[in-house]
Amino acid sequence: MTAALDQALAQIRPDVRAARAYVVQPSHGVLKLDAMENPYRLPTALQQALGERLAAVALNRYPAERTALLARALARHAGVGDEVGVTLGNGSDELIGLLSIAVARPGASVLAPVPGFVMYEAFAKQQRLDFIGVPLRADDFQLDEPAMLAAIREHQPALIYLAYPNNPTATLWDAAVIERIAQAAPGLVVMDEAYQPFASADSLALMARQKNVLVMRTMSKFGLAGVRIGYLLGAPELVDQIEKLRPPYNISVLNAEAALFALEHADVYAAQAAELREQRERLFAALQALPGVHAWPSQGNMILARVPDAAATFAALKARGVLIKNVSALHPLLANCLRFTVGTPDDNTRLLAELTSCLS
Ligand code: PMP
Repeated sequence: MTAALDQALAQIRPDVRAARAYVVQPSHGVLKLDAMENPYRLPTALQQALGERLAAVALNRYPAERTALLARALARHAGVGDEVGVTLGNGSDELIGLLSIAVARPGASVLAPVPGFVMYEAFAKQQRLDFIGVPLRADDFQLDEPAMLAAIREHQPALIYLAYPNNPTATLWDAAVIERIAQAAPGLVVMDEAYQPFASADSLALMARQKNVLVMRTMSKFGLAGVRIGYLLGAPELVDQIEKLRPPYNISVLNAEAALFALEHADVYAAQAAELREQRERLFAALQALPGVHAWPSQGNMILARVPDAAATFAALKARGVLIKNVSALHPLLANCLRFTVGTPDDNTRLLAELTSCLS
């Protein structure tokens, strides 16, 4: 019995056995401000209408028709026409996985600014791709253009990710710098617009000009993190390659129907995003005013802030039932940094009150 288990384990790649699983912090019964979720649900009447829609879905059939419809509906929602290709992922996480598979070959590399979204590196490593992390500028967390261009020249990355806005810094990059990076790139450039509902700019015009640029979005921050719908837009010639790698039925028919319903009520979500943008500004001003705290301006639904002792503040907030994310260990540039997801007005009031007493 044990020998059989050992033999089976020995077949798993050593790098997989050595890897650590993605850890989701337990959050039962706490104020959850750690994962950039939209704190709002649909109004009760719409929840009931959604329930009726889901009850009518044929669960005995594989999903295909509704997911194809959803893909086009998302492209329309983004404001692009039929000349733009679109494919769906089970969250944009899955798309990052598929993009990594698409470019994986010996010696190929993936490049992204760091600190950034951790899954770019994790999925690159899964495919044995080299990951080139180019540090952001330390003071304002903007792209270091000379360093980015030098790294592109040196490593000739097959794939570059630019999260726009970035996680965890919540920064948008200078448009002219992105354009020069996209022109210098020898391969694909993925503009990861997970936080687009909260940002003042997007990359669709760049995508139209530069055919190696793809735009990746998600419904997660829009308000459907539990539904797991990500989408990739771009030149059909490129998107079709990713489409070949997509598991045929990766989107549940229930998830597709819920997403279609949400798009029919996009105005409700847009109002929620507007409220969260307002709350972000309130939270930013309040964080900046706290003694010993430095917060960076945000274009997302989260705020990065440096505190005197991140581990102590994180633990004290947790003990008071407020869960945020301590990002200090992710990168040396993030020493003593915490990331706060913007919540409802009441959530933010509570966060600020607890934080003020933790810091005093
Ligand atoms: N991109 C960025 C920049 C993110 O921060 C996240 C999640 N936090 C994702 C992609 C993944 O989102 P999802 O898989 O929920 O679509």
